[in-house]
Amino acid sequence: MHFQAIEGRDTGLIGYLLSDPDERVSVIVDPPRSCVDVVLALLAEHRFRLLRVLRTHVHEDDRDDCTRLCVCTGALLSPHVNDAETTQIVFGGEVLRPMATPGHTPRCVSYLWRDRLLCGDLFNFGSCISAEYQADLGRLFDSLTRRVFTLPDSTLVFPAHPVRGRHVATLAELRQRYASILSRGREAFMTETARRHGARARPPGFQKLP
Ligand SMILES: [Zn+2]
Repeated sequence: MHFQAIEGRDTGLIGYLLSDPDERVSVIVDPPRSCVDVVLALLAEHRFRLLRVLRTHVHEDDRDDCTRLCVCTGALLSPHVNDAETTQIVFGGEVLRPMATPGHTPRCVSYLWRDRLLCGDLFNFGSCISAEYQADLGRLFDSLTRRVFTLPDSTLVFPAHPVRGRHVATLAELRQRYASILSRGREAFMTETARRHGARARPPGFQKLP
């Protein structure tokens, strides 16, 4: 297993390169546009072949275009996984499991790989660079309670943008942070989150992370 985070300077987007070093194949999630040369150098250094370029979500004004990376590597671009519940992405001996987690955008997908969840901006309203914004707090509540927080506490959660300087959190930490607001139910979560933070603000809890 080979796991590498690659953070773009311009948009702060964090891409994740996942590889099977035995079969020398890779996939990448949310590659920053400014880091194409870095990704190509990493692939060349390890002699990895890039099979797929995946996105957790794409905004209408998205600046992280993946065309050049796909052209240079021959990788397939998978901007959305339509049937996210049944599709598995296999690369070498590894399996990446897409999980539909709408809320930040209507078609957000998180990717579960081993003990790691690449969750896009699911927890991270405030840091998304996008000017266009489509959050649906009700669907966000459903994604958190019915999907993400059903995973084990030890799951490592990797966001698409740093959350107040943090690049990873355990699901146990997040569960604790969200326990109070989620326990009050869907309507209360929507009302309280909108009242406290507005549609563009980050949800409660994250701004308190150390
Ligand atoms: Zn976003």
